[in-house]
Amino acid sequence: MTPNFIPFALPDIGEEEINEVIDTLRSGWLTTGPKTRLFEQQFAEFIGVKHALAVNSGTAALHLGLEAVGIQAGDKVATTPYTFTATAEVIRYLGADPVFVDIDPRTFNIDVNQLANVLASTDRIKAIIPVHIAGQSCDMDGILKLAKEYDIKVIEDAAHALPTYYKEKLIGTLGDVTAYSFYATKPLATGEGGMLVTPHDDYAERFKIMRLHGINRDVFKRESTPQPSWYYEVVAPGFKYNMSDIMAALGIQQLHKVEQSLHRRATIAARYDASFSDLPLQRPYRDENSSHAWHLYIIQLNLAELTLNRDQFIEALKQRGIGASVHFIPLHIQPYWRDRYGFQPHDFPYALETYQRSLSLPIYPTLSEQDVSYIISTVQDICHEAAR
Ligand SMILES: *Cc1c(COP(=O)(O)O)cnc(C)c1O
Repeated sequence: MTPNFIPFALPDIGEEEINEVIDTLRSGWLTTGPKTRLFEQQFAEFIGVKHALAVNSGTAALHLGLEAVGIQAGDKVATTPYTFTATAEVIRYLGADPVFVDIDPRTFNIDVNQLANVLASTDRIKAIIPVHIAGQSCDMDGILKLAKEYDIKVIEDAAHALPTYYKEKLIGTLGDVTAYSFYATKPLATGEGGMLVTPHDDYAERFKIMRLHGINRDVFKRESTPQPSWYYEVVAPGFKYNMSDIMAALGIQQLHKVEQSLHRRATIAARYDASFSDLPLQRPYRDENSSHAWHLYIIQLNLAELTLNRDQFIEALKQRGIGASVHFIPLHIQPYWRDRYGFQPHDFPYALETYQRSLSLPIYPTLSEQDVSYIISTVQDICHEAAR
């Protein structure tokens, strides 16, 4: 029996989220206000970090993170080509250039040995953006050690890593700045949205100013100081990156579910792992230094043992009612990045090979046990039919 089409991703929106949004709509406060402040407080508490500042996307969070640590035109920022373009485009927003470093083919995260070589041989690298791919932490000891040695800042892209522990410490408590995305498919979803966390008062102050037009006092303080409420000062050409209370209402309720949602995803990952052991594919590698947030379940096909390539495998899943996706098309083969820096596909061989072999299977809390069983038996069937 083929069930109805199982999409690649679906948010988990229940009555709690719906009621919180209705409450916001009835409150008369639609833009940044009390719900945003509450969401920030609860998020900071959840991570265990001094400051959490909400913005309207993960991309905005990364941009403000780089801006606050002082990245300027002509600077360079080290990051991975195996990510979504947002990670690198924010470097260009500031007139700086990314320096790509290939991945560790087991974890798909930036390879710290190659990062060390790049730092030793490249001038003007002022920051590193590690990306915790799929929800598994980068080698943060290695990255933080290099950052200290070269006196450069670490802005973590934690779009997939809510929550992820690196050696007992929660991601968000390690780098100078950590950026989260609350895009519709992410572990915590507000449709669009993001969060910046930092232990540093000066960065937090800068985020507040730059997320709202360079205005030097945020909307809450303006209502409560003895100065007239209409008064404000513009101190920089800031951005329009503030979160609305409607998004924050979703965030407050989604945050309550974060652990439960991870538990469900981890259960699905364990079923996949147990069922795929004899197939011509590689299951996700488990790094002993990291927990896994299971934002993505990425399998790598052993192409020499199959008559189908990756694209055909995804098509076969689709024909049988299952949505799959690819994470990621490496940036160095995308036209903009390729042409601007003159990259060849094999400049980052591990990123390229991983891309050619990989696909991501559905993994989200609203998948039923039956859905998971159907996905497992379908992957097994396709592998057997396509065995060489
Ligand atoms: C989703 C994502 C982003 C961007 O987040 P938005 O909220 O969509 O702006 C950045 N980096 C990675 C790795 C992502 O997956």
